[in-house]
Amino acid sequence: MTVAVYPGSFDPVTNGHVDIALRAARLFEKLIVAVYDLPAKRLLFDTNERLDLFRRAVEEIPNIEVVAYTGLTVAYAKDQGATVIVRGLRASSDFEYEFEMAMMNRKLEPDVDVLCMMTRLEYQFLSASLLKEVSQLGGEVSSLVPKHVEAALEEKLRGNGPKEE
Ligand code: ADP
Repeated sequence: MTVAVYPGSFDPVTNGHVDIALRAARLFEKLIVAVYDLPAKRLLFDTNERLDLFRRAVEEIPNIEVVAYTGLTVAYAKDQGATVIVRGLRASSDFEYEFEMAMMNRKLEPDVDVLCMMTRLEYQFLSASLLKEVSQLGGEVSSLVPKHVEAALEEKLRGNGPKEE
């Protein structure tokens, strides 16, 4: 069985991430969306929230599993029996970083290959950090994230939680 891992912080999952996950799930028998537990960035959503938001976005796809992980991505991939790490590529600015990381990963673990998939045109300029900024300022993000993520952002950033009875 060909297993692939799609790692990231996913803080929170966007339509760009979902698009890559759905397309990768068509290429591999099993896709593990690996939510990095402790990225070196400030997070808005904790690990359980990020897991839950991604799970709900892909709940209808039987060969996608969403799990948390920590440590080296290549070591985690190998541990899961995965031979491929999937990454999404946006504008050319992503390339340098992904290229460097793929080279390092190959050095660490030559049996695991990195597959970069180009994003869809409409998500070319979509990043989780820009999304959070726009959402915080009250901008419209409904075409950029699944509905439940939009609601979670609103609750987290603007305190508009579900009304108490
Ligand atoms: P990381 O902290 O590993 O960069 P992210 O959650 O920011 O994690 O992104 C996870 C993966 O999804 C990365 O490969 C990133 O390039 C990709 N990605 C981010 N935004 C988009 C997008 N709009 N379209 C396609 N891929 C994306």
